[in-house]
Amino acid sequence: MTVPSDKESRETLKASNFLRQIIERDLEQGSYAQRCWGGKPGDAATHQAGMPDPARIRTRFPPEPNGYLHIGHAKSICLNFGLARDYGGVCHMRFDDTNPEKEEQEYVDGILDAVRWLGFSWDANGTSHLFQASDYFDFMYRAAEYLIEAGLAYVDEQTPEQMRANRGDFGKPGVDSAYRKRGADENLQRFRDMRDGKLADGAAVLRARIDMASPNINLRDPALYRIKHAEHHNTGNKWCIYPMYTFAHPIEDALENITHSICTLEFEDQRPFYDWLLDRLSEGGLINTPHPRQYEFARLNLTYVLTSKRKLKQLVDEGHVNGWDDPRMPTIVGLRRRGYTPESLQLFAERIGVNKASGWIDFSTLEIALRDDLDPKAARAMVALDPVKLVIDNWDEAMGTGHIEPCAAPVHPHHPERGQRHFGFGRELWIERTDFEQVPPKGYNRLFPGNKVRLKYGYVVECIGADTDASGQVTTVHARFFQGTKSGTPGSDSVKAKGVITWVGVHDAVSAQVRLYDRLFKVPQPGTGEQDVLAEINPDSLKVVTAWVEPSLAACPADTRLQFERHGYFVADRKDHAPGRLVFNRTTGLKDTWAK
Ligand code: ATP
Ligand code: MG
Repeated sequence: MTVPSDKESRETLKASNFLRQIIERDLEQGSYAQRCWGGKPGDAATHQAGMPDPARIRTRFPPEPNGYLHIGHAKSICLNFGLARDYGGVCHMRFDDTNPEKEEQEYVDGILDAVRWLGFSWDANGTSHLFQASDYFDFMYRAAEYLIEAGLAYVDEQTPEQMRANRGDFGKPGVDSAYRKRGADENLQRFRDMRDGKLADGAAVLRARIDMASPNINLRDPALYRIKHAEHHNTGNKWCIYPMYTFAHPIEDALENITHSICTLEFEDQRPFYDWLLDRLSEGGLINTPHPRQYEFARLNLTYVLTSKRKLKQLVDEGHVNGWDDPRMPTIVGLRRRGYTPESLQLFAERIGVNKASGWIDFSTLEIALRDDLDPKAARAMVALDPVKLVIDNWDEAMGTGHIEPCAAPVHPHHPERGQRHFGFGRELWIERTDFEQVPPKGYNRLFPGNKVRLKYGYVVECIGADTDASGQVTTVHARFFQGTKSGTPGSDSVKAKGVITWVGVHDAVSAQVRLYDRLFKVPQPGTGEQDVLAEINPDSLKVVTAWVEPSLAACPADTRLQFERHGYFVADRKDHAPGRLVFNRTTGLKDTWAK
């Protein structure tokens, strides 16, 4: 997919976000204008006793705290928080913690950190909108009893196998359970038995009584509550029955006065049940009206990237990467450590827009957004990642033994106000090994015997030759320089040079560890084929080198984002870097090297 990069076409993309059209229509029609807000989530009475809702719309971001967030979640965060921001609304941060297992405080903290780092806040109108779904268990239970009393739900004691068999399939209607005809009083008694721990896990479920012949299988008496004798991190041992996601989610939205409940496409078939449930609860006067509406968009699939918390957890647990924040991970903590900025992720989310049809976004789209964000910001620096020594043989004679000529370069080429970097030019310099060839390939215009190049911000030199060791490996390159050619001085271009190369001075360069990261997977759609996803891991996704970097980097703090001239974007590692112990991660190259 191609993505427009100028501002104008970005505006067009914004307009084509179908969710914006829906919201604008709702605002125009005043769909939610009369609703009240009780100051906190609650039932119909709570809200109706409140004030007119100060939020024009309410959206929510509802992760399950069972792992770290990834780039797909970033899309959802930018979308939900972005829409609320743009339309005078509020976006709720909600932990969908209705499942008693798998949840951990580490994940809760990690998720909050990620959302904040991306630049969003759940504080609005003087209050925090941070909620957890398990706080609504009491209401959910009450809603279930209401449905039972209204003849809209029943306790089914078929075995799970019978239930599955009797559900039918696309071509075959379901078969009524023998328990479907039970009266309300008996159902209520059995449901309370479930709640009171009198039944074992799996012995019964509470089901909605809708239509076993519905063409939509999700309406064939979906399960609302199941028995699970498990401790919950928030409610402890209070409950041994837990609501099903499909029952819980619409209720969470309704209690929080959500207007636009945005989810991914796989929930499209659940929408009729979402509306069925909220319509019934509205009729019963339990929830505020008008109730929320669900809208679906295509989840993000990004080439060369896994976007499944479960599979990412496997990579971490089995040690294929060094933790959730490994810079090769597509987690928000991983992208952050890799050098991505919040702005670049927001820009990416904006550019890819919101779609109804699922497809794969090319990984380069993410990197282009990153470069567009970093280019105007990142300070420049020169480094030698794979250094070989260059000796200027006529230096001492011309300039005096041991002379160091001070040189300067702009911190940023388009921002003179950011000042200059300073370093020295002397007899011995470090250059890239690839910038010398004994026998130049066609079109090569860097150092080879007889060729002249400019050492950027320094002098023009002519290559004389090179020393090699017994194995033929180049140990030192030799050149002579031309006086009067120092960059920025009058007449500096009196000697013409074919190419320009970067360098650092042997006397003032600082040693640094540089981690050259590449894609974690070598196939464009990892985890989707027959093959085990582990077999698709790129074995060359990390190369660690010891580099020489210019002295301006000696004191740079962790998290500093830089452009190493001719090499790409790098960041001082958040965890391992410190002044005096420099560690840089390659964020991305200057251009897409994976493009066909
Ligand atoms: P995973 O399968 O990785 O666990 P999930 O959908 O189960 O993802 P949740 O914690 O339930 O994870 O997700 C929270 C929100 O993030 C949901 O509203 C979901 O729609 C959204 N989301 C998750 N993955 C993506 C994705 N790839 N693209 C867009 N939105 C996503
Ligand atoms: Mg999930």
